[in-house]
Amino acid sequence: MGSFFQFKCRFCQYKVDQIPVGTGKDQTLALRLFNCSSCGSIGSTWTGQDKSPRCAFCYDKEITLLQEKAGVIDCPKCQEPASLVLMPGNWE
Ligand SMILES: [Zn+2]
Ligand SMILES: [Zn+2]
Repeated sequence: MGSFFQFKCRFCQYKVDQIPVGTGKDQTLALRLFNCSSCGSIGSTWTGQDKSPRCAFCYDKEITLLQEKAGVIDCPKCQEPASLVLMPGNWE
């Protein structure tokens, strides 16, 4: 189970709602937040066991895993500071 984040950049208006992060029913798998510089995306991807993390959009392996906490992170599209917000609600 886990929670959702919202990413929002007020400079270029790039916004991603409801990004799920957390641990799966199988505790060895986790949904982690990532920043992909290849396609300029923020999202989440499964990690753990033999799964090497990949971009959920362009499947690039050169992604940066991010801390799952609210705060300011660089926007992958315009490199300006953008906000990561913890959303209400959980997923099972
Ligand atoms: Zn931006
Ligand atoms: Zn990508």
